[in-house]
Amino acid sequence: MHRVQETFAQLSSLPEITVLRDACLSHYTRFGIGGPADLFAETADTDTFIEAWRIARASGIETVVIGCGTNLVVSDEGFRGVVLKLSNKRIAANDATVRVDSGVALQALVDFTVDAGLNGLETMTGIPGSVGAAIYGNAGAYGRSISESISAVRFFDGEQIRECGNADCDFHYRESIFKRHKHWIVFSAELALQPGDPAALRETADKILAIRNKKYPPTMKCAGSIFKNFLFADLPPRVAEAIPASAIIEGKVPSAWFLDQAGAKGMRRGDIQVADYHANLIYNAGSGTARDLVAIVAELKQRVERRWGIPLEEEVQYVGFPLLQERMTAMKSEINARPVDPALSAKGRAASLARKTFGHGPGRPRSKKKRCTCGAMTARRAKARGHKCGGAK
Ligand SMILES: Cc1cc2nc3c(=O)[nH]c(=O)nc-3n(C[C@H](O)[C@H](O)[C@H](O)COP(=O)(O)OP(=O)(O)OC[C@H]3O[C@@H](n4cnc5c(N)ncnc54)[C@H](O)[C@@H]3O)c2cc1C
Repeated sequence: MHRVQETFAQLSSLPEITVLRDACLSHYTRFGIGGPADLFAETADTDTFIEAWRIARASGIETVVIGCGTNLVVSDEGFRGVVLKLSNKRIAANDATVRVDSGVALQALVDFTVDAGLNGLETMTGIPGSVGAAIYGNAGAYGRSISESISAVRFFDGEQIRECGNADCDFHYRESIFKRHKHWIVFSAELALQPGDPAALRETADKILAIRNKKYPPTMKCAGSIFKNFLFADLPPRVAEAIPASAIIEGKVPSAWFLDQAGAKGMRRGDIQVADYHANLIYNAGSGTARDLVAIVAELKQRVERRWGIPLEEEVQYVGFPLLQERMTAMKSEINARPVDPALSAKGRAASLARKTFGHGPGRPRSKKKRCTCGAMTARRAKARGHKCGGAK
């Protein structure tokens, strides 16, 4: 406690910062769940942020950086350490190049680009949260991801501010280098967009927003999709063969498809509920707890693993679960530590990683059986089943 008190005093002496003790994190998460953080510090100034980060580190206290809390599951016990939030909010355009701070809401960035007649982000309308976290998790929707528009990212690596280009961000589906280096903090980004017609862009954005608002009512206490979807190409052949063509969307099989088969819809534990219209959407119906949320997530993972032998991976990020985090980090480092051929393309690397994750390594050849036209199953099975796409590739 003494250390926390001292750190509180040091942080409070910094300029342009708000520091709170025992801030209830449920107020900072869209789930409305989470106990107190020992300390919570928010600033819009990057120099102050770096200083705050250094003070916290020097005191030996745990730190975590959050954005708008729309993708967080925070423990009921809260977080023993300092929660840092950077709320820098500049945004500017020079022709089709946009520079944006990490604390800007992604929706504000989308609206800014649409109004400026810049094409590239309009399908991301309605994704809650900040630009920094969107880069961290390579957020996206309707077949597009933020990575497609990023030309450079400025970040703090714990010692200095650095800048990296798109390729160095190592973006994949809901992945980036920032997810693997948890202490790297995105400060700002540069986006390269294309000129477009503002009215047409607005129409696309408005249509998408209307659909999204139906699926995720703005007051719903949730984190969007709990689990990542699967890349169809990375599914083990025996699983891929069982997927109907209609369930493959833009090369992915939604986790909701597997969850639906596992009877997830409508599951309930306390006030935590799986939506009855979307098996990958879990929400807090009132005064739900992280304990119940984590239990439902574990139950769903177990059901899918048992039935399909494939691991669901959370899209949401955990805060204040040291054991859970340790286990997940250990698992990921173990996977990352296995050698990957540097000559592989990004797609090849992702496929290789997935093969390792799924337990049938790169040495094992894929099925050579002829696939059907839509690629969902073998041509033979498609024919036997009278599958609607029918023929071979
Ligand atoms: C209703 C709803 C719908 C959603 N739909 C989508 C969707 O369609 N597509 C999609 O991709 N996501 C979706 N999400 C998930 C969420 O919106 C995104 O993950 C978003 O990018 C999280 O932003 P945030 O600021 O709330 O981050 P937080 O939840 O606060 O944090 C998420 C992670 O980002 C890290 N982080 C935050 N800021 C930084 C930074 N500056 N530098 C480095 N790391 C940082 C945090 O440490 C944490 O690990 C949805 C969520 C909700 C609630």
